[in-house]
Amino acid sequence: AQQSGLASPPSDPYRAFVPNPSRDSDTLPQTGVQSTDGAARGPLDGVSIGIKDNICTTDFRTTCGSPFLQDFQSPYNATAVKLIRQAGGLIVGKTNLDEFGMGSTSVFSTHGPVINPVPFLNGGSASPSDPSLMYSAGGSSGGSAAAVAAHLCDIALGTDTGGSVRLPASYCGIVGFKPSYGTISRWGVVAFANSLDTVGILARSVGDTQKAFDVLAQPDPNDPTCLTREHRQTIKKLHHQSTKLNELRAKWTSTNLSGCRIGIPKEYLIEELNENVTATWRQGIEYLRQLGATIVPVSCPHTRYALSSYYILAPAEASSNLARFNGLAYGEPFTKEMEAMQRSDGSGEPTLYGAQRALGFGAEVKRRILLGTYVLTAGAYRDYFVQAQKVRRLLKQDFNSLFQLADPLAILEEGGGDAIGDAIRRPEDGGTRVDVLLTPTAISHAPTLKSAAGALDHTSDTDTNADASASVSPILAEYVNDVMTVPASLAGIPAISVNCGRINVTDGSPTEKLQLPIGLQLIAQYGDDTTLLTIASALE
Ligand code: GLN
Repeated sequence: AQQSGLASPPSDPYRAFVPNPSRDSDTLPQTGVQSTDGAARGPLDGVSIGIKDNICTTDFRTTCGSPFLQDFQSPYNATAVKLIRQAGGLIVGKTNLDEFGMGSTSVFSTHGPVINPVPFLNGGSASPSDPSLMYSAGGSSGGSAAAVAAHLCDIALGTDTGGSVRLPASYCGIVGFKPSYGTISRWGVVAFANSLDTVGILARSVGDTQKAFDVLAQPDPNDPTCLTREHRQTIKKLHHQSTKLNELRAKWTSTNLSGCRIGIPKEYLIEELNENVTATWRQGIEYLRQLGATIVPVSCPHTRYALSSYYILAPAEASSNLARFNGLAYGEPFTKEMEAMQRSDGSGEPTLYGAQRALGFGAEVKRRILLGTYVLTAGAYRDYFVQAQKVRRLLKQDFNSLFQLADPLAILEEGGGDAIGDAIRRPEDGGTRVDVLLTPTAISHAPTLKSAAGALDHTSDTDTNADASASVSPILAEYVNDVMTVPASLAGIPAISVNCGRINVTDGSPTEKLQLPIGLQLIAQYGDDTTLLTIASALE
């Protein structure tokens, strides 16, 4: 190949983008709105953008990483996609993901696992050919994170239901932002768990993140859960009632956080936390202190129930959402495969619905459907679904008791009046409240693809075996990755992961000298996304 002089490296050795027949010279690049006269047409003019493949586009298929939708072409663009194009952004392709966004390592994709580009950047070997250097890019927006980290695009959209933007951002050493629920329209985003789903932004800097956020944070009558213009104004008003706090916050920059109060919730210091992550967390705390912030130890007592609550509520909503995939309404039915699928057990022809779903969904998605359907059954509903909803409310109350800004949604619900007076509690409460919380994003650096794929191979769970308790099931181990990110998702509040350096790889792999990125997470009150981004810019 070298002799021919054509040995240019493949453009995407990380499987960051999904293969797409529409992604050819006819449709790429999408320059329809790009300026031809050199004048910027919009704030994203000429910026290359990857779109997670569960967000609908007319120019590319939208596969959700699922066999079910391998040929699905959406007849419309998601609102987020429309806004990006209007702002001059160039959509370069659809990014790989865990099927329907379900996963934390981007190995559950019909397009194959995403490879973390970090070990191959900065003068490493040019293409990921060494299996001992194969690490997960995180999930489920792993393709978006890998594409941005490897400079295959400037910015990427992901979706974050329980951490799917923040976790891959941490593993790939970039910024991952999940805005307040309802800030960016979900119209055209394939639903996983509606009450948790958000569109998130992955970028190499907080500045780029902010730029995309300004374009995307718009009302949308097509999405009833998207904040209206009036909502946005009211929230802003409620949050800006204290002149004293406004004046203080106006002075914060990426190099000055004087008077900023940063809470460190002790419940995030869990046994599973890698010691190098704890050290990074400490450094982050020290760094923010040097910029003038006051560090406040705080407590979110219900954090320990968040993960279980999430893995009841998210599958419950998913099982309902995925009922629409019946082989008739979306994508092509598996006609040939069905013909070949003759029951040998004498029960006759498989039903259309059953066969389509058996063929169209991967193992993890099936697991979620079973789990979700179970927790919604009459017999289990009260013990699981209702309990999980209660935990969700308690988590929200934990957060509300910590932030100096009150929850604007609670105030809107109560109809204003006296409650508005409560919107700002500082400094009368004795100064125990904080502006943001700082936690790790993940319990460790990226896992190897091999260990991540352990969950993939684990198609039939063996937890019913008597000796299963001897080791944690790879499925459960995968779920534990989300422990730091799900609380903010359940509360609907904004959270961002910012890269805070690299830590030594400690999984006993032969690549002992390898260091992988790790992020810290900042969490803020609902609607306080701008403050969150300012403080994030100081941390990066
Ligand atoms: N890892 C979590 C899950 O599998 C979160 C996924 C997401 O945020 N889309 O459900």
